[in-house]
Amino acid sequence: MSPPATDLLSSSHLLMVGAGGIGCELLKTLVIAKATRIHIIDLDTIDVSNLNRQFLFRNKHVGMSKAIVAREAALAFLPPARRDQCSITAHHANIKQPEFGVEFFKQFDVVLNGLDNVDARRHVNRLCLAARVPLVESGTTGLVGQVTCHVRGVSACYECKPKPTAKAYPVCTLRNTPDKPIHTIVWAKDMLFKQLFGGDGVVTDLAEAENNNNNTNNEDSNPQEEQTNADDVAAKFFKPEEGEQPYDFLVRVFRRVFVDDIVKVNGMDDLWEKQGRRRPVTLPVDRYKSNDAVKKTASANDAKEGESSPDNEVLGLSASAAAALGYDDDHAVSFGCKSSNADAKEKCATAPPPDHDAHVFLASGVRLLRRKLALASSRGSDDGVAFDKDDALATEFVTAASNLRSRCYGIPRQSVFNAKGMAGNIVHAVATTNAIVAGLIVAEARKVLRYVAAAEGSDERAAVASKLRDTYVVPFPQCPGSKYCIQPTSPEEAHAGCYVCGGGAGGITLSLDTNVWTLGELASFLKKKLSMHLPLLETDEAGQLYEEGDDLDEDEVERYETLAKKRLAELPGDGIVDGTTVNLQDLSQDFNVKVVVRHVADLDEEEYPELCIWDVEGGIQPVANAPAQEEAEKNDGNGASAAGDDDDDLVMIDEDIEVLTENVQAPPAKKARRV
Ligand SMILES: [Zn+2]
Repeated sequence: MSPPATDLLSSSHLLMVGAGGIGCELLKTLVIAKATRIHIIDLDTIDVSNLNRQFLFRNKHVGMSKAIVAREAALAFLPPARRDQCSITAHHANIKQPEFGVEFFKQFDVVLNGLDNVDARRHVNRLCLAARVPLVESGTTGLVGQVTCHVRGVSACYECKPKPTAKAYPVCTLRNTPDKPIHTIVWAKDMLFKQLFGGDGVVTDLAEAENNNNNTNNEDSNPQEEQTNADDVAAKFFKPEEGEQPYDFLVRVFRRVFVDDIVKVNGMDDLWEKQGRRRPVTLPVDRYKSNDAVKKTASANDAKEGESSPDNEVLGLSASAAAALGYDDDHAVSFGCKSSNADAKEKCATAPPPDHDAHVFLASGVRLLRRKLALASSRGSDDGVAFDKDDALATEFVTAASNLRSRCYGIPRQSVFNAKGMAGNIVHAVATTNAIVAGLIVAEARKVLRYVAAAEGSDERAAVASKLRDTYVVPFPQCPGSKYCIQPTSPEEAHAGCYVCGGGAGGITLSLDTNVWTLGELASFLKKKLSMHLPLLETDEAGQLYEEGDDLDEDEVERYETLAKKRLAELPGDGIVDGTTVNLQDLSQDFNVKVVVRHVADLDEEEYPELCIWDVEGGIQPVANAPAQEEAEKNDGNGASAAGDDDDDLVMIDEDIEVLTENVQAPPAKKARRV
């Protein structure tokens, strides 16, 4: 007989990856359950928005390391005698750093994941497989959560089932025929915002739309050169001219995107009645040309001493242009005056939603432009302003721009709150779900430790293996008086064709145009698609063609840079052409995989926005659409959410869960355990 499970927990060496929502609950539960040797890794620092649920952190910890503060807070729980026996090692670091390689993983008996992204989960999965350490994996989104067990030889690895990836929208839909709020939000964020406030040399599809329309067919000139010139001209439109006031510039942009471009698209007859679509309408612009109140707010430096947000410190601006204008966002959404705030009520009456959006567009746009220019002059180079969901000016601008565009296309208006959720792929985190999931992780970890402790091939090991469970936490409104239902199921079986744990048995085929794709584009596509950290790419014919890493010498870097610019068919060793097998390797993950390239020309962008076809043999195909986005789209724009109106704290969607919400059905009431 092996020792009781509690003793195993206290004598085992545990690795916790992630000290966020789940991690805080997990560390507390582990310490209470008498675990004594724990390593925690987390690269994040504590943000104000974490404090409502990551209960190990307090206001005074904002800006400090999550791993280090979590360790101190958890140790403080314990009576002094226990504290001396409990060793917690905190690493404020990225799990992908080389010191956390296979050798590091081998020292642990089990790895417990509390991560917030699929990329890092895949990285940990590969290291667990290489080091032969079992993994207990977890995720939550809103009221939904799951804990899964990944033990080599017993159950599937984390990657046996492909994960859904973020949906890409066809550029032509975004540019010409949006019909959902998410389309105008992606347009506002990825095209307009980036084009206006991105760094030097940024050209988005917004500017490219222009050259496609103006392209002349001049056979004498070099088409590539012509393209570059057209790009420059188009991008130049979205930069202020010399001496042009920021406000006048924003009005010019307003006229371009909400009047001129709409007229142009309206003129493409094939797009509308024939396809059953309504034609877009232009917005009035002259009434905004010289609005003194908006102009004044836009150009004010209005932060009170010490009150500027970090983003705006360079200018001494207050965080929100809408607030500076006196607008109450939710009030404007529910135009019709439900607000008890007299000021907001009056504002609302004088500035109905379209004006409200135009004013916020102009004021936040001017402020963002001023910030971009100030940053460029203080840094000496124009790196631009990146979109950040926690940057009030950025979300206000994106919301206002997308609402104005939605108005052109007859799409429902969204509040900043909703738009922020959609722009950042985010849903509300619920502390209770995290706590339940953390408890389930510990319950499962105990079983896994008994499995590890039992002799290989023994009856006891087989008995423990049969008790391992994947557990799903789902909202259970059918069951009066309880909010959650907990559903344990037998773990998934390993997929023989899995390209991670199946030893490369399953094949991956990638169909693309080998005369168009460059090696650099292929490498970055594969790196992202396969969640690799330091990819190395080679073919049997040409040897190594691409490699990333800190230890490359200058000659290698130069050689790879030259190769990266070449089209696939033009590479050495007859190129990467139809039928070429590309061998990929990532030493930092102990991961190898082969991808067979097929040549295919003229893929339809509407159907294949990535301009290629990714086919994993025998694999279960990922869910194409992200249900959370559809969920958000269904929202009627009043800011209501499952987590309640007050909870403005948002967390990245755990994409993994999307599979779960699709596939898991509410279990029969008898089996469900009430919480
Ligand atoms: Zn697998």
